[in-house]
Amino acid sequence: MNKRRSRIVIIIFLVCLVAVFYLSVVARGRVKVDSGYRVVMGTFARVVAVAKNSNKARNSIQAAFAEIEKVDELMSDYKSDSEISQINRDGFKRAVEVSESTYEVLRKSIEFSKLTGGAFDITVGPLVDLLRSAEKKGLAASEEETAQAKLKVGFEKLQLDGENRTVKFAVDGMRLDLGGIAKGYAIDKAVEAMQKCGASGAMVDIGGDIRCFGTPPKGRDHWLIGVQDPNVADDDIGTGQLLSTLKLTNAAVATSGGYRRFVLIDGKKYSHIIDTNRGSSASELASVTIISKDAISADALATAVSVMGSERGLALIEKTLETEAVSISSKPEFKLIKTSGAERYTK
Ligand code: ADP
Ligand code: MG
Repeated sequence: MNKRRSRIVIIIFLVCLVAVFYLSVVARGRVKVDSGYRVVMGTFARVVAVAKNSNKARNSIQAAFAEIEKVDELMSDYKSDSEISQINRDGFKRAVEVSESTYEVLRKSIEFSKLTGGAFDITVGPLVDLLRSAEKKGLAASEEETAQAKLKVGFEKLQLDGENRTVKFAVDGMRLDLGGIAKGYAIDKAVEAMQKCGASGAMVDIGGDIRCFGTPPKGRDHWLIGVQDPNVADDDIGTGQLLSTLKLTNAAVATSGGYRRFVLIDGKKYSHIIDTNRGSSASELASVTIISKDAISADALATAVSVMGSERGLALIEKTLETEAVSISSKPEFKLIKTSGAERYTK
């Protein structure tokens, strides 16, 4: 009898223990607030926060958007008073002093250039301008024009001075374009701000580049991220079909590809991603999705692999720690190629 009673006591104790564990670990911070889509950095951004209470969640969403706006103010080349526009105006005349954030992105950009053998290159500006003016004229750039622009491109022509936090151009007419990395950086800064505000989990999405951390919304073990199929993708937001759904926890994902953003010249599509070596649009891959631990890496590497192509690009990702790739070749094959560890992220 006594034995039975003590068994019951033990069972009740265990049930209580499980309940306490559930309440303190699993159900902790499960109020979810969704910002909905807002226009920032020339695209749509959305932040979802999970926190102990809705106040905390809302505050962290506000902090995330404040960080994103800050990055845009500093790094947009569309804003004439941004630091990047200042460098583009004066960078050849003088060493331009920049904020810590801008300097960090420039330093990281050069790191990615070195890692990718120059496939990722933020000095791509003159070639981007050439593509834009070709679009306006309705005529592809000539070999001569391309050769001229290429003289003003090359990350080794960008001079960074860490001590004085300055940037200088070695060649007149150089132009920086952070379109392939600024969103990733902004996402990482937003995540950092949300963690500081006490969010227990979050997802930050800027134009389809996403990072999530911590507790996913109630009833789920992971954050679920849809990847669009370039084969059937429409140009309108959210109308394309999904290629796959990724399960993520504490990871980032970015997709680059000619299928969504391109220019039409004389009826032909040209990707907005440029192979600075050849001076023309990258065309081998329709889409590259990179999964990595932070968004700046995912963003820059997705752009780089688009340039490098499947063989060289995927080989690089294969040997990069905690990083996976899913790529789709261009028309007509639309061949799907993944790195060996990508499978564990797919649903
Ligand atoms: P998206 O802007 O669609 O997310 P990406 O992250 O790949 O795509 O960024 C593409 C942008 O990066 C281009 O619009 C251009 O501004 C810039 N870019 C183009 N070619 C390169 C390159 N080789 N290296 C770095 N940035 C590039
Ligand atoms: Mg990118």
